[in-house]
Amino acid sequence: RELSKQLGVSLVTVVKAYNKLEKENFVESIQGRGTFVTTEMQGKVDTEQDMLSFNWQLSVQDYLPRSQFSQFHYVPEKIHLSSSMIDPGLLPNRYLEREINQMISENPKLLSQYGPIQGDEQLRFAMYEYLKGLEVPTKPENILVTSGSQQGIDLVARTFVGPGDVVVMEAPTYPGAIDVFRGRGATILTVPVDNDGMRVDILQNLCDKYKPKVIYTIPTFHNPTGAVMTLKRRKQILNIAQSIQSIIIEDDPYSEIYFDKKPPVSIKSLDEYGHVIYLKGLSKTLAPGCRIGILAASGSIFKRLLAAKSNIDLGSPLLTQKVIVPFIKSRKMKDHTKKLRTALKVRRDLVLSILSENAPSEISWIIPKGGLNLWITLPSWIDSNHLLVKVKKQELTFLPGSACYAVEHENHHLRLSYSYMNEQLLHRGITILCEILQSEISL
Ligand code: PMP
Repeated sequence: RELSKQLGVSLVTVVKAYNKLEKENFVESIQGRGTFVTTEMQGKVDTEQDMLSFNWQLSVQDYLPRSQFSQFHYVPEKIHLSSSMIDPGLLPNRYLEREINQMISENPKLLSQYGPIQGDEQLRFAMYEYLKGLEVPTKPENILVTSGSQQGIDLVARTFVGPGDVVVMEAPTYPGAIDVFRGRGATILTVPVDNDGMRVDILQNLCDKYKPKVIYTIPTFHNPTGAVMTLKRRKQILNIAQSIQSIIIEDDPYSEIYFDKKPPVSIKSLDEYGHVIYLKGLSKTLAPGCRIGILAASGSIFKRLLAAKSNIDLGSPLLTQKVIVPFIKSRKMKDHTKKLRTALKVRRDLVLSILSENAPSEISWIIPKGGLNLWITLPSWIDSNHLLVKVKKQELTFLPGSACYAVEHENHHLRLSYSYMNEQLLHRGITILCEILQSEISL
């Protein structure tokens, strides 16, 4: 009765809703107190279909890391557009396989020894040279090898962020980073992203008021929107961080994958005073299975991160570090990233042309100038969590936009990754998506 009054719906409707929830085991009765909708969903949701029938914000996020959401959908689908991974056919797997075998047979000790906590020296030197080519100035002694850039984010968070500390993130942003900062009990504030990257005017206001400890940004081919932060904003964000003694995490897994012109220089290259911790993951360009990334920082910040790395795992696995060194040091890496740019541009163009021909006019998207992802905005009344349930019936997946918001979720976006499927499956997937969108809109 109370609920019917509150919601302004008839008592019959409320009773019907309770009955439905009861049937699906979401109502519990507590003797002497009454009947309640359960708040604890864990354990009651045991099939993937069940998962999807809940609104992401209200249930799944409470116990399933956002970063796992895309992987979670991986197994049964044929057309997998939900996670930003590269088609294995575009990666140098064969080369690395040969290299692994050769290395183990020549130096079997590699399997029975620890490597340096900071990372293999040859790899740090190779990455120093590689980063120089990307205009990211650092020194080999300021490079720490991490198990992917995910670990880089975690190292910074566990070193510098405690419960209640303020962290600023873009909205939307990379779901795996939201998990990390939320896991630290941080107070997350968000700044919207437009075509030119993070809205620095809004950042300035937030920083004046709340003095965040960390500003997390993906300035180049931002995940999920694909936006590129302008040079002017890169300078502004750095000035802001300097003025309040904040750390910037510059997460940069995608900058090599540009389709037109090279993106602006890294924020790290503008940083004179050591406020930027730069992360370069190699999962998007080389081999996600090797779990290798690097972190570049300086001074006491670097020392503290190194100590944290020691506490976590005493250093990343030596074998995979050794295996990628010759590839990174030689021309191979350059040639490979060039090939990757060409192949992914073809896939991006294909997706854009199908969308322009077949998508309903109510739908818009940002044209990515690089990276792996395309961000689509639906009319506000379409919830991409619900849309996902429908497209999954056609063996297709995408990432619902709500996974990418730390606060104030927006449900009418979705992220498509065009980098994992071949052109034929991409063609089919985007065509199916457009058909489903057409029918949703004409409902
Ligand atoms: N940061 C961003 C922006 C990402 O997109 C990803 C992977 N999707 C990661 C970090 C984590 O990558 P990894 O740990 O594999 O390097």
